[in-house]
Amino acid sequence: MSLLVLKFGGTSVADLDRIRNVAAHVKREYDAGHACAVVVSAMAGQTNQLVSWVEEAWGLQGAQRSGRDASAAYDCREYDAVVSSGEQVTSGLLALVLQSMGVRARSWQGWQIPVRTDEAHQKARITGIEVDEIKAAMLGGEVAVCAGFQGIAPNNRIATLGRGGSDTSAVALAAALQADRCDIYTDVDGVYTTDPRVVAKAHRLDRISYEEMLEMASQGAKVLQTRSVELAMQWGVPVLVRSSFDAPDMPGNPDTGEGIGTLVCHEDEIVEQNVVSGIAYARDEAKVTLLKVADKPGVAARVFGPLSDAHINVDMIVQNVSEDGRSTDLTFTVQSADLDRALEVLKSAKDDIGYGDLRGATDIAKVSAIGVGMRSHAGVAAQMFSALAEKGINIEAISTSEIKISVLIDAAYAELAVRTLHTLFGLDGA
Ligand code: ADP
Ligand code: ASP
Ligand code: MG
Repeated sequence: MSLLVLKFGGTSVADLDRIRNVAAHVKREYDAGHACAVVVSAMAGQTNQLVSWVEEAWGLQGAQRSGRDASAAYDCREYDAVVSSGEQVTSGLLALVLQSMGVRARSWQGWQIPVRTDEAHQKARITGIEVDEIKAAMLGGEVAVCAGFQGIAPNNRIATLGRGGSDTSAVALAAALQADRCDIYTDVDGVYTTDPRVVAKAHRLDRISYEEMLEMASQGAKVLQTRSVELAMQWGVPVLVRSSFDAPDMPGNPDTGEGIGTLVCHEDEIVEQNVVSGIAYARDEAKVTLLKVADKPGVAARVFGPLSDAHINVDMIVQNVSEDGRSTDLTFTVQSADLDRALEVLKSAKDDIGYGDLRGATDIAKVSAIGVGMRSHAGVAAQMFSALAEKGINIEAISTSEIKISVLIDAAYAELAVRTLHTLFGLDGA
């Protein structure tokens, strides 16, 4: 008997028929004698609906019409109270459907398990999961159907884990339960060399290392939430990404079900390694440019200090060479959602920093090539830059890690750049 965590995303639980299909996958594992915890997302589109109701209630959507100032932030604790409700519905429905099929099951909300988080409402981090009760229920033959995306903060209020957070709920639960595997069922049949909805020639990877998956996720491949990959890597949880649209009688174990899904695992468990394993892209960053900043020691600290105090993460940074030795231009990126706040912070700090002009733009995209093979292969960056140049794509900023090269480009060229790099690094499938 194994202890399994199975997670189903929004498309997989989009209506009752799909929930019945999910129940059939769960029943297969249950009938095979495994102790099962299931983590569910809200029905597809539901979380977006709940978020837009929160915004409407606060007046964000009608603010201009009513002439009211809605720029002040709404109460994130109430956002969490509302937005977490989608998972409450699907967990209860799946427990009911399982029961109707003769499988013992009950739903667990985050606070019932409990999944403990910090107080960073709307993007809380899990600080611990008390698994004794839920584990006893599972080992006693009851399927534990858990609401993903939610936990309970020290202030005794519901907290959510950031968009896509059910992946993190599942991996964290698997780690706490010391589960044998965490299966992430989604609407694609594994992790691809790039988003298969953008590049038709993308192909499924049988295996991908934690490190590569972490870079893929953090550079925009939304198939797994970044935090879930961090946790899987930290705790060594084997994660199998597979499709809930596979026939429910397909075996669930990667050891017996050769060719099913993508196993996210340690690098040394992967035999064949490409130099580049995947291409990711993100459109949710914005560019900030400070023109005519004094070119002298301490200026970068005066720019980035206040941004960090405002909890705004800065990603890529480029400082141009100063032409006159006195002033220079500084460009960097932040999450689009933080752009307005970043501009406000920099306007308030204008006298202290000293700059000529300030600009913000959202029509940019970041495209990244990722692969552990880059550690031992030189020249990947050069190849990448010349392929983009041949297509007339201008690079506005570059950042690198040991296993990743990212470029910032005009958003209009994002798909062309992804396709170009996919072909360049030999990733186009047959
Ligand atoms: P779920 O609702 O199951 O959590 P998501 O929509 O969050 O599913 O993630 C699955 C989606 O991720 C796919 O539909 C696909 O378009 C997208 N995606 C982006 N990059 C990749 C990739 N490299 N491999 C697979 N899917 C990817
Ligand atoms: N329902 C949440 C969201 O849409 C969490 C998840 O699906 O992972 O972001
Ligand atoms: Mg998701």
